Amino acid sequence: MAIERTFSMIKPDATQRNLTGKITAKLEEAGLRVVASKRVWMSRQQAEGFYAVHKDRPFFGELVETMTAGPTVVQVLEGEGAILKNREVMGATNPANADAGTIRKEFALSIGENSVHGSDAPETAAQEIAYWFSGIELVG
Ligand code: ATP
Ligand code: MG
Repeated sequence: MAIERTFSMIKPDATQRNLTGKITAKLEEAGLRVVASKRVWMSRQQAEGFYAVHKDRPFFGELVETMTAGPTVVQVLEGEGAILKNREVMGATNPANADAGTIRKEFALSIGENSVHGSDAPETAAQEIAYWFSGIELVG
């Protein structure tokens, strides 16, 4: 499988509970390498832009509120099959459905406060990385 890069976010519900290190450790233990990382408190405009694909969904307002409620850690992860691997380590969107050992099973509070985001395909990974990082911020 090819080496890929994916975009990951540690959401405000997790940064506020001081889980940045524990979540990053799970990503690293799965063989993913953090090649870029920064802490940002996103504005409403940034959150609406990032989640524009969901703008017509009934939970969009709640999603923007949740994502702007505190600081977020945005990261780029690199590794073999990184996009799928990250989704596996994250677990299902709703923590009630997440497998044992996944980040969302261990740490998420609810479907809205589900601790992490990860890109779902190569195209979205490229778009999401470019949304938050410039090329010189990616350091393998
Ligand atoms: P993410 O895109 O954050 O990695 P995902 O791909 O597992 O998560 P999506 O369907 O893309 O899930 O939804 C994006 C985010 O919107 C979810 O992570 C969750 O925080 C929120 N969300 C999704 N469905 C609901 C819902 N029914 N009620 C509240 N929030 C929701
Ligand atoms: Mg998604």
